Amino acid sequence: MELSCIGVGTGPSNLSLACQIHEQIGQGALFLDRQVDFHWHPGSAFDSTELQVSHFKDLITPVNPRSAYTFVNYLHENGRLYHFLNAQFETVLRAEFEQYLNWAFHRNPLVRGGETVREIRFDGEFRVRTDNAVLGARNVVVGIGKQAQIPPQFQGWTGPNLFHSSEILHINPQVHKKHVCVVGGGQSGAEMLLHLVGRPEEWRPGSITWVSQSENYLPIDNSPLTNKLFTPCLSDRFVAMCEPQRRLLLRRFMRASEGISENAQRAVYQALYRHAFLEPNRCEITLRPGCTVSHCINVGAGHRLTLQYAPVEEVEEVTADIVILATGYENAVPGFLEPIAHRLETIENELAIREDFSVFWDGPRDRRIFVYNANVGQGGLADPNLTLLAWRARRILDSLMESAPRVNPEPPDFICPTSVESCSDAKAEEMGSGI
Ligand SMILES: Cc1cc2nc3c(=O)[nH]c(=O)nc-3n(C[C@H](O)[C@H](O)[C@H](O)COP(=O)(O)OP(=O)(O)OC[C@H]3O[C@@H](n4cnc5c(N)ncnc54)[C@H](O)[C@@H]3O)c2cc1C
Repeated sequence: MELSCIGVGTGPSNLSLACQIHEQIGQGALFLDRQVDFHWHPGSAFDSTELQVSHFKDLITPVNPRSAYTFVNYLHENGRLYHFLNAQFETVLRAEFEQYLNWAFHRNPLVRGGETVREIRFDGEFRVRTDNAVLGARNVVVGIGKQAQIPPQFQGWTGPNLFHSSEILHINPQVHKKHVCVVGGGQSGAEMLLHLVGRPEEWRPGSITWVSQSENYLPIDNSPLTNKLFTPCLSDRFVAMCEPQRRLLLRRFMRASEGISENAQRAVYQALYRHAFLEPNRCEITLRPGCTVSHCINVGAGHRLTLQYAPVEEVEEVTADIVILATGYENAVPGFLEPIAHRLETIENELAIREDFSVFWDGPRDRRIFVYNANVGQGGLADPNLTLLAWRARRILDSLMESAPRVNPEPPDFICPTSVESCSDAKAEEMGSGI
């Protein structure tokens, strides 16, 4: 049977689309994921970490709060709604949101787990090859998330003593009494530090150095007026801007997506306090903001890192038994698109997309490849975030059904800016700042 659409990867992005198709059309699509049960960033899913957005920003509520796939309905169907209300969580735990996502993953008959997509070819239809089958579809929707970013100075050294933060729970390193260096001063770095110092004493490192490139461990800007960036209205405006304008806005509002949550900042400070003044078997915690790791070499069982302080040009060497790279994520390059890669347009290192998230390519207009969570440069800071997940999926669904994008029933955003710099001014500012 030829399908209208095959989803590749069924994380939150494609799961949202799967739920909307299931409720609105009921058939004609299949969503594949290599996982049998859905685990959300399993290598770094610490028990105590919290969702960084409201639970209303679930798979579907922002576009259809009456759906059976809402987080609130998950609580209801699992007999937890009153308990959840009484528990008065300030923020939902990621562990609970993962359970919700897994519930939706298994509830939806259009989702098939345990299917790794190996290759996509095109012969008038897309042919999607997994380990078990070759499936045909008129459209494909790629939602495979991002991959760990390993800066060049660490490449070639990765292994059980030097690894990305996304691997910590898989590797489960023996850190007891060892010196651990955490590289990266954002949310993942903060969560890593809290995970390490929060372990029972017999599992805890002897010392931790936490390195941050920025001059401080900066907070994420989660303020209401900045969150306007994460609305459909602003997202559409961003897409309509020229490239220099988009780059300027991304730079100005970087703190809206990069930085440490207030709760995590407070927990870090309390850990510093406890280990400085209260803890009898303290872990020595050293903070090193304002420096980059310029070199890394292997020494014995550990690694020696050269910390370069700018602009004073001071250098410090740190030798660590274990190095954990909390250095973020980058676009995953889908190897399975290789057979058709030469037919797809790119902008810088992203696939070039239209407003409906379909990729510009030289194939027929009614055979499309959609991509999400891989286009910050074109889609804006909201691209990887859960906030507009349901809205993005609905855009794709409208496009698949060839209906005009639905008008959001909400009034336009309070602060849709009437102008940023003109294209030429934005370009001039970029050149002036040496970008
Ligand atoms: C640790 C961490 C915490 C985060 N917390 C938040 C948060 O609190 N709030 C927020 O807004 N955003 C958060 N994010 C951002 C994140 O982008 C979103 O949470 C969300 O996971 C994006 O969903 P996705 O479906 O695009 O990608 P992913 O969640 O990465 O899902 C991709 C899926 O594709 C599957 N897959 C990959 N390759 C293949 C293949 N070849 N064949 C079949 N299946 C494949 C994977 O198994 C996976 O299930 C967080 C990110 C990280 C790394």
